[in-house]
Amino acid sequence: MSNAEHPWLSRYEDGQPHSITADRPDMLSLWREAVKAAPDDTAVLWFDRALSWKEIDERSDTLAVFLQESGFAEGDRLALYLQNHPAFLIGLVAAWKAGGCGVAINPMSKARELTYLLGDSGAVAVLCHDELYDQVVAGVVESGQTSVRTVVSVNPLDEQSRDDERLFADVRRGDAPEGTTALSRIIEEYAGREPRTRTPSPDDIAVLTYTSGTTGVPKGAMNTHANMAFNSSTYLRWMKLTSEDRVLGIAPLFHITGLVGHVGAAIAARCPLVLAYRFEPNVVLDALREHRPTFTIGSITVFIALSSTPGVSKDDFSSFRLIYSGGAPIAPAVTDRFEKLSGHYIHNAYGLTETNSPTHCVPAGSRAPVDEDSGALSVGVPVYDTVVRIVGENGEELAPGEVGEICSSGPQVIPGYWNKPEATAESLPGGELRTGDVGFMDTDGWFYIVDRKKDMINASGYKVWPREVEDVLYTHPDVREVAVVGVPDEYRGESVKAYVSLNDGSSTTPEELVQFCKERMAAYKYPRHVDLMDELPKTTTGKILRRQLRDDAKTGSAAS
Ligand code: AMP
Repeated sequence: MSNAEHPWLSRYEDGQPHSITADRPDMLSLWREAVKAAPDDTAVLWFDRALSWKEIDERSDTLAVFLQESGFAEGDRLALYLQNHPAFLIGLVAAWKAGGCGVAINPMSKARELTYLLGDSGAVAVLCHDELYDQVVAGVVESGQTSVRTVVSVNPLDEQSRDDERLFADVRRGDAPEGTTALSRIIEEYAGREPRTRTPSPDDIAVLTYTSGTTGVPKGAMNTHANMAFNSSTYLRWMKLTSEDRVLGIAPLFHITGLVGHVGAAIAARCPLVLAYRFEPNVVLDALREHRPTFTIGSITVFIALSSTPGVSKDDFSSFRLIYSGGAPIAPAVTDRFEKLSGHYIHNAYGLTETNSPTHCVPAGSRAPVDEDSGALSVGVPVYDTVVRIVGENGEELAPGEVGEICSSGPQVIPGYWNKPEATAESLPGGELRTGDVGFMDTDGWFYIVDRKKDMINASGYKVWPREVEDVLYTHPDVREVAVVGVPDEYRGESVKAYVSLNDGSSTTPEELVQFCKERMAAYKYPRHVDLMDELPKTTTGKILRRQLRDDAKTGSAAS
């Protein structure tokens, strides 16, 4: 059975499929409406700096003109390799105005990862921080392995750059390769010019967001304008955001939770976005005290870290109207503890990169039930127009209470992965997403996740694919065999652990292997623990028993 036939559907506010599905707006039109409605109101708050809708709009015009003059054509892609910085919004809107889309890239990516992402997406331009330019982009672009022709740099995120003049200060030095320009120079030189813009079709790609999905290879999820606009409106309909709100942007903007739950939601609601440039408890506390946000959505680890920061008090949370957590499972004990400290109940929301974030949420003001058998906190009920089926091993639809794979379809579900028809056919047969999450629906229509089909490790909401870490470890000359699993971690939810067997005679230590990985991958991915084993456990056919290692890791019995 799916929720489409379930009686609680009639409990929606109006009992009707909601109109935005029929309207199918595009994000650029939503942006323009917001600018027109209140051009001088604040769109972004960043440290002590406020930027109005008009200011961001004009800056995105200049960048769009520059991109077009640099040869950026319809359908081209601009990589956004940035922290939570106003330039992210400027770049995204500029890409839409110039007739293309953004590619959201984790700023923690190292050269190897960036080469893959730029190559796979075929981005022709990159907008990045100056410091990332120096560390990574220069080498990757100069290697000739990408189609990048233009690089625009933005100031680094140091203390001084917070103040007015330096927010877009010209920091590119004379040694930059041809084609590299500072955003500040573009803003100045192209002031007053407007790009040639057509309104995007709802089916055009708004952003490519990379995910490993249900298999290990990172793939660009084609988030269309209609997908993103639909779920941005989910924040209006379910979280009741209005222009009176202030959204605190603590989730990274390159990830779908931040992209839709902060950027999309603030555009749809026409309310200010308070950007915490990256998650550091003291930076976030300052933003709470200075800008008094009313709404946020973030990974549960953010709330755990915030509530254990020295000096934090209930007052710091008093401006909030509503708090959501998404991207990772939440233990009921954690929501209880946070509520005692902050006075706020954390509402759960569930979705994937492929669904532009929520397919499910706990409606504002409701409390999620806890399943007595599994102890799982419900992820909520499906949002408007979203049909969710629980499917058994043989593809059969299961009844309430029965556990199977969660399969979702709706206006927020992507049409597919960029240039990966086989992965699209596998994960999105007939347009329905096979999530790889295992769960059930109770007889009241609440959904619960109890397990994962996929091997993915969820460390603070960051998804790590064992295969990628294993691939790096296998490049070490002393490593014979390796299996990477997730182990429970009080703070991160899960952390990455590698079981390794070494070639005979090797004296490489676990610490050296940790360091080896640390130098080659983003900080959230490298294994925190490495255990050496003489032999990894295997099935009779020689397949590594990853599940056994995972189970043993929980009890500590696999360590040798
Ligand atoms: P991503 O594509 O990075 O957003 O990751 C999506 C995955 O995160 C899902 O397939 C789930 O495994 C997990 N996830 C997201 N939200 C929740 C939640 N509220 N509870 C449990 N797991 C979640």
